[in-house]
Amino acid sequence: MTSAEIRPDAAREAAGPHGHDGAAGATSAEPVWWGWGPAFAHQPLPAGVADVLTQLGIPVRPSRPVALADVRLPPVRLSATARHALVAIVGEGHVRLEAEVRVRHCRGRSTTDLLLLRSGDASAAPDAVVLPADHDEVLELLRVATRERIVVVPYGGGTSVVGGLAPPAAQGRPVIALDLRRLDRLGRIDRESGTVELDAGLRGPRVEELLAPHGLTLGHVPQSWEYATIGGFAATRSSGQASGGYGRFDELVVGLRVATPAGGWELGRAPASAAGPDLRALVLGSEGAFGVITRVTVRVHPLPAHRVHEGWRVPDFATGTRLLRDLAARDLRPTVCRLADETETLANLAGPTATDDNDTSEAGAGAGGCRLITGFEGSGAAVAERAARVAEILRAGGATALGPDAGLDWERGRFRAPYLRDALLDLGVFAETLETAGFWSSLPALYTGVRQALTDTLGRAGLAPVVMCHVSHLYATGASLYFTVVSAQGDDPVATWRTAKAAAGEAIVAAGGTITHHHAVGTEHQPWLGAEIGGLGLDVLRSVKRTLDPAGILNPGVLVP
Ligand SMILES: Cc1cc2nc3c(=O)[nH]c(=O)nc-3n(C[C@H](O)[C@H](O)[C@H](O)COP(=O)(O)OP(=O)(O)OC[C@H]3O[C@@H](n4cnc5c(N)ncnc54)[C@H](O)[C@@H]3O)c2cc1C
Repeated sequence: MTSAEIRPDAAREAAGPHGHDGAAGATSAEPVWWGWGPAFAHQPLPAGVADVLTQLGIPVRPSRPVALADVRLPPVRLSATARHALVAIVGEGHVRLEAEVRVRHCRGRSTTDLLLLRSGDASAAPDAVVLPADHDEVLELLRVATRERIVVVPYGGGTSVVGGLAPPAAQGRPVIALDLRRLDRLGRIDRESGTVELDAGLRGPRVEELLAPHGLTLGHVPQSWEYATIGGFAATRSSGQASGGYGRFDELVVGLRVATPAGGWELGRAPASAAGPDLRALVLGSEGAFGVITRVTVRVHPLPAHRVHEGWRVPDFATGTRLLRDLAARDLRPTVCRLADETETLANLAGPTATDDNDTSEAGAGAGGCRLITGFEGSGAAVAERAARVAEILRAGGATALGPDAGLDWERGRFRAPYLRDALLDLGVFAETLETAGFWSSLPALYTGVRQALTDTLGRAGLAPVVMCHVSHLYATGASLYFTVVSAQGDDPVATWRTAKAAAGEAIVAAGGTITHHHAVGTEHQPWLGAEIGGLGLDVLRSVKRTLDPAGILNPGVLVP
């Protein structure tokens, strides 16, 4: 058993550069434009990884991004009139047309996004990046954009992995990215109710920095926490690594302030209500297609006095999954809970991989089975009692405790995956993830179906795929599955991955899972949205869009087909 700070130094350092001056110029701590995190946080993969990859049939072909000067950008289409109108609202310094700023706001951070950027393709870059200071400026910008027929892409941390920042239906109109980083204030703290108001542009680490002096935490820690924002969490219905204890982000939201082309909208005036359908749910997950979320009121918790992470070995993935179902059914969900399948367990033992787990401990090595990480946060007594009850059930089900190192390893590695992905791309190796969720009864078929679809498609293309998976985010009725794929790149990795992802999408639908548990729909999951919510569901979304955004300027083609 081990306890530690939730924020590793690397992540804390990374919080700084996204300062709130609105500038996106390069500093030493600025994230690289072609990948994740600042350059100094990038490390080559340990010697030996290349050998393992080669043994797996994945050729290593060192590959570097093109120089920034060689990135191909489309010409700026913004008219002088439109530009002056935008400048009149936010000021000259907050309408940015420089090439580097446009490149940095081009698409999101999926592997295909990165492959395109690394090859010099910034064809989806916005014409300009506009940085409003507050809700009223956002409202005013939306009025001007409606009048001037400018497409607006709300932009938080830019960590979308589903094409949510590259609207495909711009149809020749100029596009601006509305970078919300200047909306960075902590608003009212309502101690009695346990809620705080947070501006949409606040990033994960900054939120915790602002709350800590008040003895509070949000507890929302997705793997993209270093860069993703409050508005982005709400717009995508994000789920963090500690969702078992704190809940998904949408469960934390009690109120929303939204700027739409049709006007401002405030939602959420009581903890619960019967005043018709809960319209907050229309905004949560709306991916910038209905409005710009400018402020969110969230439930917060006292900073936990104790935090422990433990490692376990379970005999196999099926047994582990059943154990997690038992825990969830008894309302004993750990704050953090991650069960790696056999392949992911082996990959973690072999060294750094594109997963966010990294067990190199003696106790985990060579013993077979699957690795499970559990974590608990809260008061000392509550943590001890809960951990003991969970341990009892796990032991009775055949699990073996792995000692303190496995928990510590997981904590140390919890934000490393995107850095490792960059290192793999530098070796010419493909690495990407996808996720789904299903009811307990359908989870085994969902696991097998998606795994098979990915293995078959990439295998047929001769790319020697390694497909691994972990269960995380438990519910009383089911759980999510998170797949990681490492493979050779082949001649056209973007097209090949799209084919593989399409096969996985079909498999998810066939097995009764959701097309996305927490990454959202964007453009990439759209082909399967109809199968999930029905044609009527799509019509409902279209009518909401028509009401809130009659000119269709907000993220056209994202979420709503
Ligand atoms: C390496 C990596 C790890 C990840 N891990 C996780 C994880 O553990 N859990 C998880 O849930 N997700 C994860 N993601 C996905 C992503 O980080 C989440 O979707 C996140 O919530 C996006 O936040 P953002 O601020 O970066 O939003 P962006 O990427 O900037 O935007 C996402 C979408 O929301 C819209 N949007 C953004 N801000 C607003 C706003 N204020 N108002 C209206 N619309 C807005 C955008 O237009 C876009 O469509 C990961 C992504 C990466 C690259």
